[in-house]
Amino acid sequence: MARAAGTEGLRKLLARLATELEVNGNDLVIEREKAELLMEEIKPKPSPLQLFYEQIKDCRKCPLAETRTNFVFGTGNENADIMFIGEAPGADEDRLGEPFVGRAGQLLNRMLNEVGLQREEVYIANVLKCRPPGNRDPRPEEVAQCLPYLLKQIELIKPKVLVCLGRIAAQTLLKTLSPLSRLRGQIHQFRGIPMVVTYHPAALLRNMGNYERSISDLRFALRVYHEAVSAESDENDSAQTDG
Ligand code: SF4
Repeated sequence: MARAAGTEGLRKLLARLATELEVNGNDLVIEREKAELLMEEIKPKPSPLQLFYEQIKDCRKCPLAETRTNFVFGTGNENADIMFIGEAPGADEDRLGEPFVGRAGQLLNRMLNEVGLQREEVYIANVLKCRPPGNRDPRPEEVAQCLPYLLKQIELIKPKVLVCLGRIAAQTLLKTLSPLSRLRGQIHQFRGIPMVVTYHPAALLRNMGNYERSISDLRFALRVYHEAVSAESDENDSAQTDG
């Protein structure tokens, strides 16, 4: 019934437009063109990150393209000050096309909330955009093909702090074989951006004994963030004074 009423409404609207056209000649057509141009102008333009997604979403540069269900680009605020980086999509992420949406993702949300952050205000991505079968570790040749995508995401988002979730993300970005225990608790630098390392939420699910340590890592990352913001504002102040 609702559909029939809608059709009737459309029929009446078309009849009205036809009458207006008869009366006003081309004027109505010109107005409509103007309206369409205006609509085109006010339509939101895709952001550089969205354009980048469009460029790479059908990537088949490594064999993981054959086994994936979905390409998993990243999620969150494109202007985030804090960016989280994991290793690769798991089964739930592959199914849904979004990083950290399974049990590990729920735990990450809980960790974020515990330190006063919302998932929507940070950005979350992985080193690999496609799931390695059986959640095995990424292979060096897969990382070599996929890493440039993450680097471009970091370049476009310009976070003030990076947080690596787990050994693989940290070792990949820092080009080191150091164990997680040595990588945690320090401020690393990645292309001029301070970086902090903590446990991967999936590892925490296997050993919740490290949960409080991961929370203190996140609090540490927030302190690093606040220091970065305050250093930036001091620099701006001194540039204005000098100017
Ligand atoms: S893992 Fe990365 S490089 Fe390999 S197919 Fe997926 S997007 Fe492309």
